[in-house]
Amino acid sequence: MTKYIGAHVSASGGVCNAILNAEAIGASAFALFTRNQRSWVSKPLSTEEIHAFKDLLAERGFKPEYVLPHDSYLINLGSPDEETFQKSRAAFLDEMQRAQQLGLQLMNFHPGSHLNKISEEECLDQIAREINRALDQTEGVTAVIENTAGQGTNLGWKFEHIARIIEGVEDKSRVGVCIDTCHTIAAGYDLSTEMGYQFAMEEFERVVGFKYLRAVHLNDSKKGAGSHVDRHEVLGEGFLGKAFFERFMHDPRFDEMPIILETPDPMRWADEIRWLRSL
Ligand SMILES: [Zn+2]
Ligand SMILES: [Zn+2]
Repeated sequence: MTKYIGAHVSASGGVCNAILNAEAIGASAFALFTRNQRSWVSKPLSTEEIHAFKDLLAERGFKPEYVLPHDSYLINLGSPDEETFQKSRAAFLDEMQRAQQLGLQLMNFHPGSHLNKISEEECLDQIAREINRALDQTEGVTAVIENTAGQGTNLGWKFEHIARIIEGVEDKSRVGVCIDTCHTIAAGYDLSTEMGYQFAMEEFERVVGFKYLRAVHLNDSKKGAGSHVDRHEVLGEGFLGKAFFERFMHDPRFDEMPIILETPDPMRWADEIRWLRSL
């Protein structure tokens, strides 16, 4: 069993560049944006770009199952605002379709925010309906829900939120979860101690189930347990601390899935990956 580790690398200049950037830091997995993450509209991927991506991916020895596209930050599938909701629906489908076109199997997204205009339950159920809608129009791509820190009115910080979304998804084989370790501690699951780690993992198993786990965002946290503040830190230099990463690297429940660093200094990614492997 192996751990596939990489980072959320830049795809600026085209999706092929993400492969080269991942290779340059010694990664065996990576995340990327397949469209401009700060814009509602993006031009379609060209046939040439799609072929070039698939060829280069194989040539450089990356497996599609360890590539984790991340959706645009603008998308809020749970939005109570009609205009944002319609734009989110279209953009989310586009993200799923792009992943499919690139021959990838996962698409990672933040569930959504209720903006204090609808209840948590309404928001979560709306998100599940929208996942169903996108799954109906795509093939072979799993919608991967990321847990959040719970900043503002963002949902998905409690494992129960994620469980409720999954419950509403019809095709359970194409819905999954990405655990972001910074978000997890910020949400109040204190992974920094041995006991806290075991407790959080048991909770995840009990409420959601490891069978849904498809990916990890491996980040340390600048803020402490229950802060609900989403600030990533270099591995070992935040509230999670070195002992957490040691525990994580020895935990087989995180084998065989993309493990993605979103730590603040890209210049240190190669070292951080090397350090993890040394554990
Ligand atoms: Zn993340
Ligand atoms: Zn974050």
